[in-house]
Amino acid sequence: MFTAMTLCLPFDNSYARLPERFYARLDPTPVAAPRLLALNRRLAQDLGLDPEALAAPEGVAMLAGNRVPAGAAPLAQAYAGHQFGGWVPQLGDGRAILLGEVVAPAGSPLAGRRFDIQLKGAGRTPFSRMGDGRAWMGPVLREYLMGEAMAALGIPTTRALAAVATGETVWRETGLPGAVLTRVAASHIRVGTFQFFAARGDREALELLVAHALARHHPEAEPTALGLLGAVTAAQARLVAQWMGAGFVHGVMNTDNCAISGETIDYGPCAFLDAYHPAAVFSSIDSFGRYAYGNQPRIAVWNLAQLATALLPLIDADRDAAIAAATAAVHGFAPAYEAAWCAVFRRKLGLSTEEPGDGALAEALLKAMADDGADFARTFRGLAAEGGAGARAEFRNDPGAFDAWAEAWRARLAREGATPEARAAALAAANPAVIPRTHRIEQAIAAAVAGDLGPFERLLAALLEPFRPPEDPGLAAAPRPEERVTRTYCGT
Ligand code: AMP
Ligand code: MG
Repeated sequence: MFTAMTLCLPFDNSYARLPERFYARLDPTPVAAPRLLALNRRLAQDLGLDPEALAAPEGVAMLAGNRVPAGAAPLAQAYAGHQFGGWVPQLGDGRAILLGEVVAPAGSPLAGRRFDIQLKGAGRTPFSRMGDGRAWMGPVLREYLMGEAMAALGIPTTRALAAVATGETVWRETGLPGAVLTRVAASHIRVGTFQFFAARGDREALELLVAHALARHHPEAEPTALGLLGAVTAAQARLVAQWMGAGFVHGVMNTDNCAISGETIDYGPCAFLDAYHPAAVFSSIDSFGRYAYGNQPRIAVWNLAQLATALLPLIDADRDAAIAAATAAVHGFAPAYEAAWCAVFRRKLGLSTEEPGDGALAEALLKAMADDGADFARTFRGLAAEGGAGARAEFRNDPGAFDAWAEAWRARLAREGATPEARAAALAAANPAVIPRTHRIEQAIAAAVAGDLGPFERLLAALLEPFRPPEDPGLAAAPRPEERVTRTYCGT
C-alpha cells in the first residue's frame, strides 16, 4: 500500500459499487521517477480539480500511480471481445487502472457529468496476460494529441488529463521511455464488457450492467436491454459519421474498443487521412483492411450485432422474438448513420438547407478526390477559399475533375441565400485547418523521446484551435512525399 495523500479528489465510484466479479481491485504499481510531460489544466478545471495541486509533486505522484488519492477505489475492469473478428473470452484492463469517478461541479461546462479517471500504463493487473502493464511515451503522447484534437473538433472522445514520464525503460523491440496517461472518459464500458458476462451465462451481471449503462449514458432511453441497444446504435451511428467527416481511421474497431457511451476510445494505430481513399488502412496488423476508412460503418454494425447477441437473453425469453427485436434495433443504424453522414457532409460543403441530392453531391466529390489522391482535410478546407480555388489546387492530376464537380456544387449553393462571406465563414468553421497528421505526431514523439517537448506542445496548441490557420503554416500542410507515413503501429 502507498501512503494516502492529502490531494483529495471528489470521487464517487459507482462502478466500484458493482459486484466484485466486474473487476479486480488493485493499486497502480509505483514507478521510479515521475516527471510531468503534459497537464490539461483546462480539463482539470472543468472537472473541478486543482491544476496547481496536480502539477505539484504529490499530484504528479498520483498521476504516475505512486500515490493513491483519498476516496479512490482503484480497479482493473474485466471485459472480453472480438479482436479482428476472433473471439477472446477474457481481455480486461491489462495495463489500465481506474482510480475512480468524479462528477464535474456546477459552473463547469461539463457540470453534472460523471467521468472515469483512469491511469493507462499503470502496471500489471490480473488481466495482463503476457503484457508488462506499461506504456511507452509514444502511444501516450499520441493518445493525448488525438483525444484532444477530436474533442476540439467536437467529436465525442475520451480525453487526456495528463501524461507523466515514469523514469523507467519499457522494452518493446528496443528500450523506450515509459509513460502513464491519465485518461478521462464518460466510462470505460465497452461492447466487450457485456460480452464478458454473456459468455459466462451471468444473467444477473448483465442486468446490473444494463441498468448501470442506461443510468450513466442513456437515461433518455427506454429502461430495458432493447432500449440500451437502440441508444448505443444511435450513438455509434452519430460517432462514426463524425469520424468519416474528419477523415479519421480508428484502426482497431474491436468490440473491446467500442464504448457504450458513444465516445471514441483506445487510440492505437489510428490516423487522420492525408490523401483520401476509402480503402485507406494504416495499422500494420490490419492486413486485410478490415478496419479501413470506408469499412468503419459496416464494422460498427458488426460490433452492434455482437452487443445485440450478448443482450438477447434479456430482450425476450423467446429466442426468436429476441432475435427479431434485436435485429430491428441494430437495423436502426443505417438510417441514423445516413442522416448523420449527410448532416456532417452538408456542413462540410457549406450547405445550410437540405436537398435530397446532397448526399450524392458529397459522394461525387469524394470519388473525384479518391481518383486524384487529393488531400482530405485540405480539399474540404480549400472550399472556403476564393470560391473553392483552394480545393481545386489539391487536385494535382486532374483539376478538371474538380471543376466538373464544382459546377454542380455552385448550382446547389445558388439555391441557398447565403452571401459569399457568410458561406466562406461557414465552410471555415466546418472544415479544420489543422488535424493531427501522422507525420507530425511522429515528429513530436521523436523529439519528446529526445527530451524536447516543444514540437508536441506546438502541435497540441494548434490542434486545440483546429479551425484557425496555425501560426506555423507547416502544421496545416500535407506531408511531403518523404514525410508521408503509411504504417502505424499498436506500439503497446
Ligand atoms: P488494446 O489493443 O490496447 O486495445 O489492448 C487489447 C488488450 O491487451 C487489452 O486487454 C489490454 O489491456 C491488453 N494490453 C495491451 N497492452 C498491454 C500491456 N503492455 N500490458 C498488459 N496488457 C496489455
Ligand atoms: Mg483496447
